[in-house]
Amino acid sequence: MTAAETFETAAPAAPGRRLEISLRPGVAFPDWPAITSEPAAGALVAILEAFGAETRWSGLGDGEDRVRRAILETYPRIGHAPSIDELALTTGFAPGQVRGLVAKLATRDMVILDRDGATITGAYPFVDRDTEHRVHLGETVLNAMCAIDALGTGAMLGIDVIVESSCRSCGTPIRVQMREKGAALGDYAPTDAVVWTGIQYANSCAADSLCTVMAFFCSDQHLVTWRDAKHPGGKGFRLSMDQGLQVGKAIFTPLLAAASANL
Ligand SMILES: [Zn+2]
Repeated sequence: MTAAETFETAAPAAPGRRLEISLRPGVAFPDWPAITSEPAAGALVAILEAFGAETRWSGLGDGEDRVRRAILETYPRIGHAPSIDELALTTGFAPGQVRGLVAKLATRDMVILDRDGATITGAYPFVDRDTEHRVHLGETVLNAMCAIDALGTGAMLGIDVIVESSCRSCGTPIRVQMREKGAALGDYAPTDAVVWTGIQYANSCAADSLCTVMAFFCSDQHLVTWRDAKHPGGKGFRLSMDQGLQVGKAIFTPLLAAASANL
C-alpha cells in the first residue's frame, strides 16, 4: 500500500455541514473562500467540530471581543502575552473588568491562563511556552501552538512571516516562507514536507490535545513512521504545505479582520 492510500483510508469522511459564524459585518468565521481543496475542507470541518467552534463563539460579547483582539494585536508588538494592566491600558477597561473578560475568554478556550488563573500565557495562535513551531515576524519570534496556527499567523497579521519548525519524526528543520502579506506560500524546505492535522480534543483545551497532533513532517514516509509508532489508527488529514496554509488562513484571517466599511 502506498502512503497516499494509507492516508485516504485513515481520513474520516468530511461531514457536509460547513459551519459559518458572523464575527462582525462582512467578516465570517471561518473564511471558507480560503479553502480551495478537498483535504483542506475535510480537515477544517473536523477541526471546527473537535474544537466545538460553534458553541465557543456563540454569544461573544463586545467587551470579550475587544479584549480578545487586543491580546492578539499586542502579542507581536511585545513578544509575549500582555498582562491584565497592559490590556486595561489598550482597551480602556478597568483592570477588574479585563480580568473578568479574560476569564470568560478562557472558558471559551480562546485564551490560555497559567495555573493560578490570573496570567495570560497564550491565545491562539500564540503561546508563551517554547513549542516546536516558531514564527519570525521581523525581529520578533513567537511560538505558535501548532503547525496550522503557525501557518495562519502571517495572514492574520497581514505580514510576511517565516515559520521554523521541525519534522515530528526525525527533527529535520522545516522552514516555510510566506509572501503576499502572509496569504501565499513562498519557498519552503524540505520540498517534500507535509502537514498532519490529527483530530482529537480533550479537557476543553485544544492546546493540550488538538494542537499536539498537528505537526510538520519532512516527508510522507516520516509521517507514516510517526503515525505507526505514536498514533496507530489515529484520525486526521494529511495536507500539503499549501493545503495547511489554506486551513490556517481560514481559521485565523477572520480573527483580526476589520468590519467591512460598506456594510
Ligand atoms: Zn523526518
